[in-house]
Amino acid sequence: MLVQLTYASRVSRTLSSDDIKNILSSSQKNNKADGVTGALCLSNGIFLQILEGDRQKVNKAYHKILADARHKDPAILDYREVISRKFSEWSMGLITRSDDNRQLFLKYSSSSDFDPYSMSGETLRGFFSEVVDNVRWLRKSPD
Ligand code: FAD
Repeated sequence: MLVQLTYASRVSRTLSSDDIKNILSSSQKNNKADGVTGALCLSNGIFLQILEGDRQKVNKAYHKILADARHKDPAILDYREVISRKFSEWSMGLITRSDDNRQLFLKYSSSSDFDPYSMSGETLRGFFSEVVDNVRWLRKSPD
């Protein structure tokens, strides 16, 4: 059974580009092996991640991620069964806020800062659908 899990967390300290690269490379390696796909957004010191795949694999990945000291204040924002994946081509894509995609981040925020903690499941799904639609210009490398 396929599920999607979306959570937010805050960076626990200032993260360097090497920290982000490490997170991304571990994620891509492990997720590929487990058939987990998804996207990781970082904006304003807040991570927003969507994990999708087999229910047990997604739950296992989330519990491992929870133990990571590089972030804190995790909160599950959306969890549901789905019939298909949104991010089938990404073992883990990184999206950081930039001038190019600022409008998209703000479009789905009720405040002037991107605050996924206050977003509904439906709003989050809208945000990730637009991420997928705009993947060509949104996707950023970590450096
Ligand atoms: P490796 O990939 O072999 O680790 C490589 C190097 O990364 C280590 O040598 C070490 O330098 C560094 N490292 C590893 N773990 C930590 C740690 N906890 N703290 C500091 N440095 C560390 N993992 C996934 O598998 N899938 C995900 O989707 C995913 N998403 C993440 C999202 C966020 C916001 C964060 C903070 C982490 C995420 N991670 C994810 C990373 C996860 O928490 C583990 O660090 C990782 O899965 C460990 O993989 P590994 O045992 O294969 O280590």
